[in-house]
Amino acid sequence: MIRALLYGFISILVITFVRMVMGIIMKEFSGLMKEETASQQPPSRPNPAKQKVPTSGEFKACKTCGTYVLASSAITSGDAVYCSPACKEKSAKASA
Ligand SMILES: [Zn+2]
Repeated sequence: MIRALLYGFISILVITFVRMVMGIIMKEFSGLMKEETASQQPPSRPNPAKQKVPTSGEFKACKTCGTYVLASSAITSGDAVYCSPACKEKSAKASA
């Protein structure tokens, strides 16, 4: 008698557990299905315009070698503009 009760109790527990698991699985499955339908829509790609390209900015000629360099990346010494520290050194040596 007690065994029958125990089996009944265990079977209820098992059914409850299985139902719970099935509920979780179904939830996950429906979530996956929703994701799949969402992915069928054109994906929102990261805007390439966000990548900053230094398009603006004037070019300046190196005083030593004449190479044009962006003013933002150029090495300046007073009014003089140089493409590299080497050119700046050369100019300094030439003037000295
Ligand atoms: Zn130079």
